[in-house]
Formats: sequence, structure tokens, C-alpha cells
Amino acid sequence: MLGPPGAGKGTQAARIAAHFGIPHLLTGDMISQAIASGTAAGLSPQAAMERGELLSDELIVTFVDERIREATRRSGFVLDGFPRTLGQASTLDAIRAQSGSAIDLVLELLPDHAVLLERILKRAEVAWLSGRTARRDDNSEALNVRLQAYEAQTAPLSICYQEHGYP
Ligand code: AMP
Repeated sequence: MLGPPGAGKGTQAARIAAHFGIPHLLTGDMISQAIASGTAAGLSPQAAMERGELLSDELIVTFVDERIREATRRSGFVLDGFPRTLGQASTLDAIRAQSGSAIDLVLELLPDHAVLLERILKRAEVAWLSGRTARRDDNSEALNVRLQAYEAQTAPLSICYQEHGYP
């Protein structure tokens, strides 16, 4: 599932996963778990995440590699938040080659930028009003960085997948 922040990837990926009864593999959750469990100790990914920057491919792969392999052994799955760069797509290709699995479909959600900003700020407001802590990257400054990261690092991946015939 590809799409810039606020596009609705999480919502739609969860629906697809529930429909097919398969896991929804959310990279953001894997990173949070790694941070909470101390696996990411010393790597300090929080600061980069709060600024809205992508983490390095090397770091991301340490979080997602085993989870993807495990899910591949068990069933199909919906990948949400990975891959986001051409380098990560190569890693996914290597995992797929070793496990003999295939990509059935790549979905990219692309609402207008104005809609993205509105949704992100709304999400922060709803969290704040309901007494929850808003995501620290749900603000207009970090959103700009996240959108730039999408254009620069993820959009080329979208073109690459289109060229490979994933509609
Ligand atoms: P998300 O919740 O998917 O928007 O991810 C939140 C943040 O986690 C991103 O802004 C990045 O800092 C980091 N992140 C999540 N997935 C990746 C990925 N595949 N590659 C690099 N950074 C990621």
C-alpha cells in the first residue's frame, strides 16, 4: 500500500486485511514496538520520525525483515508503510525470491495535498480533544518534510512498480 501521509493507507489496509483474514503489517507499529522493547536502543529513530524524515533503509530492514518472512511462511499479508524507497523494494524482492512469494497488487492512494493537510491536522486535533497524545509528526512543518520525502523517495518506487505491471 503506497500513499503520502494522510492518504488513508492505514484505514484501507486494515479493511483489506480484515476482508481476506490476513495480517496487516504496519511498519510504523513495528518501529514503535522495537523502540518500546528496547530493540532500537542506541539507534534513536524518534528524532528523525518527529521531524518527518524517513529512517535509513538499513535500520528499517532490521525492524521488518523477520516480520515479513514470518508472515510469508504463514499466509498472504497487506504491507503498509514498507517499502518506501527503491532500496527497500530491492530488499523486499530478495525476501520474496528466498520465500517464493509474489506481489499480487500495489495500491497507491493519492489525494490532493490540501486534503492531506486537513486530515493530518484533524487527526492531531481529535487526539488532543480526546485527551490522547497526538503523533509528534502530525503538524504542518513535519507534514511538509513527510510529503517531500514521499515525492523524492517513494514516488520513484511507484513509477517502478507501474513499469513492472502492478496496476
Ligand atoms: P507512518 O506512520 O507510516 O507515516 O511512519 C511514521 C514514520 O516512521 C515515518 O515518517 C518515518 O520516520 C518512519 N518510517 C515508517 N516506515 C518507514 C519506512 N519504510 N522507511 C523509512 N522510515 C519509515
